Amino acid sequence: MSGNDYLGLSQHPAITEAMRNALDTGSGSGAGASRLVTGNRPQFSLLEQALAEWQQCESALVCSSGYTANCGVISALAGRGDVVFSDRINHASIVDGIILSRAVHARYRHNDMEHLRWLLEKHRSARRKLIVTDAVFSMDGDAARLLELAELKREYGAMLMVDEAHSGGLYGSYGEGLCHVLGVHRDVDVHIGTFSKAFGVYGAYVSGSQTLIRWLTNKARTLIYSTALPPHVIAGILRALELVQAEHEGRKRLAAASVRFRSALVNVGFRTESGDSPIVPLIAGEKASALRFSEALDVAGIAAVAIRPPTVPAGTSRIRFSLSAAHTDDELTDGAARICEIGRTLGVTAGE
Ligand code: PMP
Repeated sequence: MSGNDYLGLSQHPAITEAMRNALDTGSGSGAGASRLVTGNRPQFSLLEQALAEWQQCESALVCSSGYTANCGVISALAGRGDVVFSDRINHASIVDGIILSRAVHARYRHNDMEHLRWLLEKHRSARRKLIVTDAVFSMDGDAARLLELAELKREYGAMLMVDEAHSGGLYGSYGEGLCHVLGVHRDVDVHIGTFSKAFGVYGAYVSGSQTLIRWLTNKARTLIYSTALPPHVIAGILRALELVQAEHEGRKRLAAASVRFRSALVNVGFRTESGDSPIVPLIAGEKASALRFSEALDVAGIAAVAIRPPTVPAGTSRIRFSLSAAHTDDELTDGAARICEIGRTLGVTAGE
């Protein structure tokens, strides 16, 4: 209960078959070079067109991973003299992208729009302003305040970048993500998604305007100076994209299961975030207590690792449960009961 295979697609036979077919028909085991040298293949364009259609935007760019996408995109869009406004608990790859960019890193308190406004005001005259956020936060499972972020970006003439690593595939009629559900996708200048989570494969994409994608193709160093994804991985992603769009049932079941699972924990007094994302953190407090909890869960047949500082702030060590459409209802009901029992036995309680 700690993986990110939210729709259970990593075991889907149609994806593995697409990958096997590509290998069997001569795709080779590797791309052999960066996309700008000789690593490009027609399948890349096919996938990028399909992604742009899915995201209802002009253009898309496939990257090697979510980590390299964030590092490459932020450092291509911001530089010395610019300011990147970033939620304090954004993913490490966003933080590293900002460091790499040499722009000023203006961290705002988690989901605190007043603090963000104060920072935007303070840096009003900066050359370029980029606001960046996870759509669903990876270790807390709560959602960004995307409507307010869109308003602030318009008011201050900033760019808005949203990382849908943990929401892509899960929200929207066709899994387009949280930005579409909230109707702010047109305000998002840079949209990032990964293929490593709900898609069950590996890799990532950026989508947005044609100008953005052309700029990134020429400026994003993690794209330019790194070997392209192997062609059979692209074949797997192409198949996964079709499946993700059609996974209406899986999305519905997962959202309902997430709400039920949260309620089961909260009803016995544990502290967690509200919402319907499949990421359900259970705060244990100190490192040792989270580790003890995780070990006891393991003995009971539940694989859920302890997340500790520096990944999360000191004193908020936790078990980050993540649910998948591949879990059965019985597994989740039984799992929640065991988690509650073990947590209570160990004295992990709410409210501190
Ligand atoms: N962004 C976020 C919000 C993430 O949680 C992660 C991975 N945990 C990434 C980016 C990196 O994605 P990838 O695993 O594809 O490198």
